[in-house]
Formats: sequence, C-alpha cells, structure tokens
Amino acid sequence: MTKSDPSLANSLAWAKSLLNHANRVVVLTGAGISTDSGIPDFRGPQGLWTRDPEAEKLSDIRYYLSDPEIRKKAWRSRVESPAMGSRPNSGHCALVVLEQRGVLDTLVTQNIDGLHQLAGNTAERVIEIHGTMRFVRCMSCSYRVPMGVVLERLNAGEADPACPECGGILKSATISFGQNLVPEDLAQAEEAAQRCDLLLAVGSTLSVYPVAGLVPLAKQSGAKIVIVNGEPTAMDSLADAVLYGGIGELLPSLID
Ligand code: NAD
Repeated sequence: MTKSDPSLANSLAWAKSLLNHANRVVVLTGAGISTDSGIPDFRGPQGLWTRDPEAEKLSDIRYYLSDPEIRKKAWRSRVESPAMGSRPNSGHCALVVLEQRGVLDTLVTQNIDGLHQLAGNTAERVIEIHGTMRFVRCMSCSYRVPMGVVLERLNAGEADPACPECGGILKSATISFGQNLVPEDLAQAEEAAQRCDLLLAVGSTLSVYPVAGLVPLAKQSGAKIVIVNGEPTAMDSLADAVLYGGIGELLPSLID
C-alpha cells in the first residue's frame, strides 16, 4: 500500500486526528521500526527466523546456557550484526518529534538496539523492556561492561569468552526467551499503559507476551489504540486505527 491509496489516506487522517487530541501517549515499538536502519526483524517476511527457524535457538536462554556451540554462534552473530554501527531512521526521528510536542509519556521498546536514545528520545522516557545489546553481563555475578569490551576479545580470537571475574557465562544484557523481564520495567510499562489516553504500536507483530498485553491493558483503561505495521498484527481487532505500510514513510506523516 502507498499513501496515494484512498483507504490508507483516510486511515492516516483519522489516526492523525486521534493523535492530535491525545495528551498522554505511550508508544510501543518492535523490530519493524529498525529494519530501515539495516537491522533485520525476526518474524517479518524477510525476518531472521522466517528465513532460518534454527536461528530462534540463539535467543533462547535454555540453549544459550546449556550449549557452548549456540553461544559461539550467538557471539559470531554479534560480531557480524549490523546493529552496533546502525543509525536511527526517519521512524525513530518522528518519535523524537512526538516527545518535543510534549505528549510522549513513555516509549516502551522491545528493541535492544538503543536507536531511540541515539535518535534523541530522553533515556528516562524509554523502557528497554527486552534489555540492550549495547552491554554484556555475567550470568553468575554482577560483572557488566559495554559490548565493545567483549567484541574486542572476540576479534582477538576468543569464541565463547568467560567472565574475567568469576569464570561465569557472559551474555548480552538482553532478555532472551525463557528469561523473566525486569519486574520494575514491566510494572512501569503497565502503569504507563493504564494512564495513557493513546497507545501507538509500531513495527511489532504484537505476539510476544507480556509486552503485547500492554495493548489490551491500555484499551481496557480507556485509551485509543493506533497500530502502524507492514502487515496485520495480533491486536488489530482492538485498534481504533490501523495503518498498513512502510514505517519510515507512515510515522513521519502521522506525527509531523
Ligand atoms: P517481529 O519481528 O515479531 O515483527 C516485526 C514486524 O514489523 C513484522 O510484522 C514486520 O512485517 C514489520 N515490519 C518490518 N519492517 C517494517 C517496515 N519497514 N515497515 C512496516 N512494517 C515493518 O518484531 P517484534 O514483535 O518486535 O518481536 C521481535 C523480538 O525480537 C523483540 O522482542 C525484540 O526484542 C527482538 N528483536 C529486536 C531487534 C532490534 O533491536 N532492532 C531486531 C530483531 C528482533
């Protein structure tokens, strides 16, 4: 679909009017907002898991902790990932404009790439609900360092670097499948969903819980729901407006 599509133009106008009447907006972003920055998503048509279902194991804590070969593969994928050098795109920048307009309450992101903060959203307003790939932590002690420190060890030849303080398993500071979210982060995101008057979900299949549950929670609390994505999501039936199309084009049109 393109913006010249009459049905999309109508939905865009309707979504804009909902947004213009909102005073307290919660934005929920997923991997789809960062594909224009060169970082592939998991479940989209060109997603990493769509093309290689085995890749899902790299994001599962059970395989990561029990299988050194999975850890080696996961570290190799970090070295090769385009994410560390990627830059924010027009979708991220539109959300900075939303904050500048004074209506952004909280930005909850499932992304681990740090691009919202790099674009200029205030770090205190961003909840990285699935953690961050920009840091590495030890699974056994409190050791935590920037990703670059461990990438240097990988580039020097280590395949599965161990914690220098306790010998434990190192992992990016992300929340993998099978790991609990940080309870304070989830509580903060749920409170924001309950007090907002509009929830804008962008670039997510809205199928990963408990984060996807923020959409029905906001709806039950009386908020309008606007969804922007390239394909249908699991929550479209709850939405007051759904915009199907490219995020890099649609989000600036919606917000500017
Ligand atoms: P997902 O992969 O389940 O869904 C992404 C959605 O975005 C898909 O529906 C896809 O069609 C859509 N999409 C992709 N590019 C688009 C574009 N340019 N315009 C419009 N739509 C587009 O993503 P998810 O629901 O966020 O869940 C994936 C999980 O994987 C998350 O929990 C996240 O932690 C992690 N992840 C993060 C990144 C990142 O940090 N950039 C990348 C991949 C995966």
